[in-house]
Amino acid sequence: MSRFFSEKYKALAPYVPGEQPKDMRYIKLNTNESPFAPPKSVVKAVKEQAGKCNLYSDPTCSALVEKASQVFNVKKTQILPTNGSDEVLNFAFMAFCDKNTPAVFADITYGFYSVFAELNGVPYKTIPLKEDFTIDYREYCGVNATVFIANPNAPTGIALSKAEIEEILRSNPNNVVVIDEAYVDFGGESCVDLINKYDNLLVTQTFSKSRSLAGARLGFGFACESLIADLNAIKYSTNPYNVNRMTMEAGRIALCEQAYFDKKCQEICQTRAYTTAELRRLGFTVLSSKTNFLFVKSPKISGQELYERLKAKGVLVRHFNGERIKEFNRVTIGTKKQMDIFLSCVEEIVKEKQNEKSE
Ligand SMILES: *Cc1c(COP(=O)(O)O)cnc(C)c1O
Repeated sequence: MSRFFSEKYKALAPYVPGEQPKDMRYIKLNTNESPFAPPKSVVKAVKEQAGKCNLYSDPTCSALVEKASQVFNVKKTQILPTNGSDEVLNFAFMAFCDKNTPAVFADITYGFYSVFAELNGVPYKTIPLKEDFTIDYREYCGVNATVFIANPNAPTGIALSKAEIEEILRSNPNNVVVIDEAYVDFGGESCVDLINKYDNLLVTQTFSKSRSLAGARLGFGFACESLIADLNAIKYSTNPYNVNRMTMEAGRIALCEQAYFDKKCQEICQTRAYTTAELRRLGFTVLSSKTNFLFVKSPKISGQELYERLKAKGVLVRHFNGERIKEFNRVTIGTKKQMDIFLSCVEEIVKEKQNEKSE
């Protein structure tokens, strides 16, 4: 840290992204990306736009918003495209939280929420997940704070029902409720259509997981017109060109390829069911997931050690050090072939562990 760094950021503990090591070729099951390349039409669109990079992108993202309004069946004024959904989440902390309006979220959830709160000087409270890692929606009713819920939650993979979200919305009429639907396409129930019913609802989605565009950085906020206007005030005060022209067109064309992505999501869900069954057969505890990852632990090996031994065999998974979750690893669902390699490594490791014990 330099001696010039602002006092207000000195205590900041930045978000730590999943590792991207370059020392060898790993099977990457650690950052919840799609294992599938985007469709060719998307690649072509990116190439076409690259030649026009001397010109700024459209700050209103009109072509993308037009397409999104058809696909999601909402008004154009109810959509805000952002540089990944992380950006709209940060905007929400800036726009809807302050000293008098703290943020509230689960103790075990997306790590960026506490980082955004700290960055923006927003006080926050965490609500512990229940023993079985589910969220009790009643604990978010009437909280007098801006609510952030990843639904389905990460890294647990467990989802709340739409009816439960509605209870939270109804009981907090004077606070914004942010529903982060990063993983909704893998089996969750979307709340996007509720933005016409609740003026305190902001739903965020991303192209990073189900739409194979993590490297392009594109997300959406969906909300009533006035919430979107607030978020636009923040956007035009930070970076009006927050979505670059390649990404904007990639996103628009991706929205034209719904059938491709539906098929890929189905495939992920099938592979998820297969991987869940195999891991349980090997004695693992596997939380039942509505996402493109599994949260798993073994009674035979610690979370840290399994992570390390998998890495030594060329398979990367994500391990977190939090007290309640340190025995777990989060495993992204890749292709069937990748999961078979992962599973055979796991089986080997469990056997090695047993042999070491009996020696
Ligand atoms: C991946 C993820 C995001 C955001 O991803 P972007 O790549 O910034 O769109 C948001 N919330 C959760 C829970 C995520 O897992």
